[in-house]
Amino acid sequence: MRDVCIVGGGVSGLAASIFTARAGLDTLVIDGGESILARNASLENYPGFPDGVDARRYLHLVREQARNAGATFELGRVTRAEPVDETDLEDGFVLETDGGEPLEARRVIAASWSDSEYLVPLDVGRLKRGSKHFVDVDQGGRTAVDGVYAAGRLAKEPHQAIVAAGHGSKVGLAVVHDSDANFYHDWVAPEGYFTDRNREVPPGCKEIDDKERRARDEQARKTMLEAFAEPFDDRPTMHPSVTDDT
Ligand SMILES: Cc1cc2nc3c(=O)[nH]c(=O)nc-3n(C[C@H](O)[C@H](O)[C@H](O)COP(=O)(O)OP(=O)(O)OC[C@H]3O[C@@H](n4cnc5c(N)ncnc54)[C@H](O)[C@@H]3O)c2cc1C
Repeated sequence: MRDVCIVGGGVSGLAASIFTARAGLDTLVIDGGESILARNASLENYPGFPDGVDARRYLHLVREQARNAGATFELGRVTRAEPVDETDLEDGFVLETDGGEPLEARRVIAASWSDSEYLVPLDVGRLKRGSKHFVDVDQGGRTAVDGVYAAGRLAKEPHQAIVAAGHGSKVGLAVVHDSDANFYHDWVAPEGYFTDRNREVPPGCKEIDDKERRARDEQARKTMLEAFAEPFDDRPTMHPSVTDDT
């Protein structure tokens, strides 16, 4: 059984997957469509991009980062989630998908802003506000059901990409802390940062020497230069109620 299945490969789900996968948890992201951010025309309030960034390019880069971290991906819409054993949530959850094989995971992160109907059998505490549903969570994104978490806009977070990314990361870390992973911080520090003070490198942290630091910087610059070399072809997705007469 997988450690964690993340429903929704948008901003919050991908951010969560980076943290769970980097902490060594077997992480699957299942996504049934498109992040709502694909509708954006120019992402200008995401820190780190002084003149903004194409939102679809940004999503592409986050997916690549999640893959590099070790997360795996499946396409499919989750239609139902329930415990493997009603009497013991430690046994994890089974997720039904439209058309695919059922998926099992010890923990589930719901990061699927546009749809949370599949959570109904679990009774996690969905709240209706107008036409939208939200899920009630604690500080770590934990719902009323042990082992089930919610992240991003679905968890009533403000409707901005950086907030969704931050919240997804926080929920990913809560999952790591609730699991058996030996973890302190996900940090990469210069060689000697801990060891020259006679401290062990804490779990989850790494020390790298200057050669390795330069090699990583070289790779990072190459990746970004290639990613930004050409304009991104995809256009924003229009709201479904706007008709396209072209
Ligand atoms: C027109 C527009 C412009 C915007 N502009 C900005 C902006 O300029 N700056 C900014 O910060 N924010 C902007 N946003 C808001 C931003 O896009 C969201 O706040 C952010 O994407 C929320 O992230 P999320 O992970 O909660 O949801 P999403 O990114 O929408 O991810 C949810 C994912 O879950 C998947 N999913 C849903 N149901 C299921 C299911 N049953 N099974 C499997 N997968 C499922 C979806 O396919 C999707 O990929 C804009 C939004 C819109 C609509």
